[in-house]
Amino acid sequence: MSNGHYPTPVERLEPLSSATTSLWVKRDDLTHPLYGGNKVRKLAALLEEAKRSGATRVVTIGGVGSHHVLATGVFGKLLGLAVEALCLRQPCTPHVLETARACLGQGVRLQPASSYSDAARRMAAIVAAGAYPLPAGGSSRLGTLGMVAAAHELAEQIRAGAMPEPDLLVVPLGSGGTVAGLVAGLAQCRLRTRVLGITVSEPQRLFEHKARALAQELVDERLRPGLSRRLELDRSYLGGGYGHATPEGERAVHRAAGVGLLLDQTYTAKAFAAALDRVARGKERHVLFWHTLSSAPLGPLLVAAPAELDPPLRALAID
Ligand SMILES: *Cc1c(COP(=O)(O)O)cnc(C)c1O
Repeated sequence: MSNGHYPTPVERLEPLSSATTSLWVKRDDLTHPLYGGNKVRKLAALLEEAKRSGATRVVTIGGVGSHHVLATGVFGKLLGLAVEALCLRQPCTPHVLETARACLGQGVRLQPASSYSDAARRMAAIVAAGAYPLPAGGSSRLGTLGMVAAAHELAEQIRAGAMPEPDLLVVPLGSGGTVAGLVAGLAQCRLRTRVLGITVSEPQRLFEHKARALAQELVDERLRPGLSRRLELDRSYLGGGYGHATPEGERAVHRAAGVGLLLDQTYTAKAFAAALDRVARGKERHVLFWHTLSSAPLGPLLVAAPAELDPPLRALAID
């Protein structure tokens, strides 16, 4: 795969910066030309480990339009691994339907689940039958190490003068691994940058706890006491819940489009809205938005996809 295209660029978003605060973007939408985004960094080690274990198939879990499931489908296929996924409900958008179809186009077996516990029970049965398990969002310790490496990559770019040290890094918090890996990696690199995690998933407490606990686990003891000062979490952009669009998010999508960035309503729109608010507040000199959505065109991934989802899958995308 597994060779993501690193380092991903950092860019200053001049038209969205103010006299006091510069807005920057870390272009992890460009981690891979087939399918980018943050999941590419987490999956490299996870899929390698699956291969090393001798597995021929992997199983995972996610919303019906999950980027994690699609990324697993794309890169699993490249490695010759069969991919199955237990799918959960989420609000319907054209992006969700397209993502689910692209999964089918990669040959992923999508199996509708009626609840998280139903999905977990069935996943355990598939694992017992020999499939290698991948956690939701790829946010195990091993997957998250990919995001630790991403923080080191940023530190190297700062040292090389590609951008000044940001005061604040803004990123969505879904299953927690991205926030955890970045906080841990920035601490290891002795950067002062604080992380603002925008909680977009539910239950909020569960994933926030997971992010904090994983970050603690990833650094050595000396760094642990300082970690909580490095991480701030904000739930106020969640709106109606996971996958529900918000008015601030819609505005953020338009403003991002104006500088050539493509956002989704579930994750990146909410985090970008927060980044724009921080620029407007003007308390930081440099704010870095960590882009986590793939900007690779979905067209090639839809070539072998069915035109529509089967009714049981379609029913998981709630209108
Ligand atoms: C999965 C995902 C996230 C959240 O990352 P976690 O590591 O699960 O917290 C953010 N943005 C996008 C676009 C994603 O697909």
